[in-house]
Amino acid sequence: MVDPMHPRETVDRALRLSALGLVDREVADLCGVSLGAVQKWRTGSRRTNNDEDVRRHHSCPRCHGRELDHEAYAYLLGLYLGDGHIVLCRKGVYQLSLFCGNDWPGLIEAAADTMATVMPTSSVSRRSLQGCTEVKSYSKHWLCLFPQHGPGRKHERRITLEPWQREISEEHPGLFVRGLMHSDGCRSMNRVRRHFNGSDHWYEYPRYLFTNESRDILELCGEALTLLGVDWRYSRHNAVSVARREAVERLDGFVGPKY
Ligand SMILES: [Zn+2]
Repeated sequence: MVDPMHPRETVDRALRLSALGLVDREVADLCGVSLGAVQKWRTGSRRTNNDEDVRRHHSCPRCHGRELDHEAYAYLLGLYLGDGHIVLCRKGVYQLSLFCGNDWPGLIEAAADTMATVMPTSSVSRRSLQGCTEVKSYSKHWLCLFPQHGPGRKHERRITLEPWQREISEEHPGLFVRGLMHSDGCRSMNRVRRHFNGSDHWYEYPRYLFTNESRDILELCGEALTLLGVDWRYSRHNAVSVARREAVERLDGFVGPKY
């Protein structure tokens, strides 16, 4: 940081004091400079110092208070709980992976865009696998955003949301359910037989089905549907179903078919 009004030493000293946690007013008094000068050096230095360093040290909404895009996070939380994986790959760096079926290229794009929006300091990459595409991103802070990560599979341990996660999922229940449905759910035609007037009659109607082995995740799905005013029920021990016509129509406004 070059400031023609002040010697280099003063600026450096002020930055060191700021780094120690002193507030701008104290730094200004100690260095005998104006409050404005301290603010300018402190905020300016963040932009002009080594960018990579700043990126690395200010990348996390939980550790560094970086702003988190709540809409993108609500969707990504749904995707992660449905079918996401976090693995520790090298010292302290976590890989978040989502596996997206190749039948729905739009969802691959949406997953990649959402990951990039939630963690803009990490790049997103893709890997082609048999029938699906792995969308992944590396960060030391994926664990901060998805503290549900733990040993074993999700259905073998308790999955509870942190209060801040619950707040976001309740703020955007439609996006949260959209993420769940886009990963482990589907909107398909259900065919049922009704017998009356002496013969069988077949009916087809659309329904949503969210299938997951974790009772906790099924409960979260149900709670979000209730918040949306969408009727739902357990159709099996491991599936939440939305089948009533008005409920399907209402959910279409938030989710819709995969694309
Ligand atoms: Zn963090």
